[in-house]
Amino acid sequence: MASIEFVNVTQSFDKHVVIQDLNLTIEDGKFTVLVGPSGCGKTTLLRMIAGLDRQTSGQVLINGKDVSRIPSGQRGVAMVFQNYAIYPTMSVRENIEFGLKNNKVPKEERTRLVESISETVGLRPYLDRKPSALSGGQRQRVALARAMVKKPSVFLMDEPLSNLDAKLRVQMRIELIELHKKLGSTFVYVTHDQVEAMSMADTIVLMNQGQIQQKAAPEVIYRRPSNLFAAQFIGVPPMNVAELGTEGVKFGFRPESAVLSTEPVDSRYVARGVIVTREMLGSETIYQVKVDQQSYMVKYTDDLFTVDQQVYLSVEASKMYFFGADEYCIANE
Ligand code: ATP
Repeated sequence: MASIEFVNVTQSFDKHVVIQDLNLTIEDGKFTVLVGPSGCGKTTLLRMIAGLDRQTSGQVLINGKDVSRIPSGQRGVAMVFQNYAIYPTMSVRENIEFGLKNNKVPKEERTRLVESISETVGLRPYLDRKPSALSGGQRQRVALARAMVKKPSVFLMDEPLSNLDAKLRVQMRIELIELHKKLGSTFVYVTHDQVEAMSMADTIVLMNQGQIQQKAAPEVIYRRPSNLFAAQFIGVPPMNVAELGTEGVKFGFRPESAVLSTEPVDSRYVARGVIVTREMLGSETIYQVKVDQQSYMVKYTDDLFTVDQQVYLSVEASKMYFFGADEYCIANE
């Protein structure tokens, strides 16, 4: 197992600074998810851990040891990419065995490893098939198995599920969580999908424009976002935010924290509005409520209201968030 540390790391490409003076510790044995919008630098961090790129300045440490001069193959890390990187002309068995053959692992040991790993990822019945005869999820498992045979202490995954359909993605998420439990290795997983991050991570590292916005457990980011960016990136639909006067202070509340009613209720934050859209999603309904010129999203498990209906929107004081002009969250507890 292995912890990873970035110490004052800067990464520039052709004088374009992508990461500036970043400090981050990724804990040993944890499932850490790097999440943030496209281009925020997630893959750049992963590539530095893998040794595919070298940082412009600062240090990258694995298990406390500076790995800057250690080549990729000797870092004890394995990377799984979104496009699988499996060989189409080789069978599943040959694909998994490939790295072992290269490392001159004896045949008997190879067979034993391939069988035990294919069992772990559910590929045992498909060992003699070519990748073209596999589903997307099975191919993704081949890519995982190829990484696993190297017995890495760190698994790096770059959007590994993005080529799968929605149903399979959900299934593979669960499989990856189970795999992580079984292996106990450090997983570093990159995604721009906050739902994926929330459902899989022990720890989320939320990034924007090359900087860490917050590092915390999913429920902590959800309940106590450190700033406006974190508040609006995590949660579907995102937190409602509006100006609270002229000083640049904003308030916010989550769509699931608001209560709608036809009569006013006793609450500190109540406003009168009208429902302008209603989106039925099955187990829940999302209403868009217009209060003066401002629209708020409200999520309800009951489908009680209709478009054009006049309603009162209220939010308990304890469920309100406030953000200063610097966009940092003012303590809400
Ligand atoms: P995505 O979710 O779209 O994959 P990301 O968060 O992984 O995004 P990175 O791939 O790390 O983002 O890229 C961060 C920034 O660095 C982007 O602006 C990108 O264009 C730039 N960048 C990355 N690699 C290089 C490179 N080799 N040369 C020049 N610019 C690069």
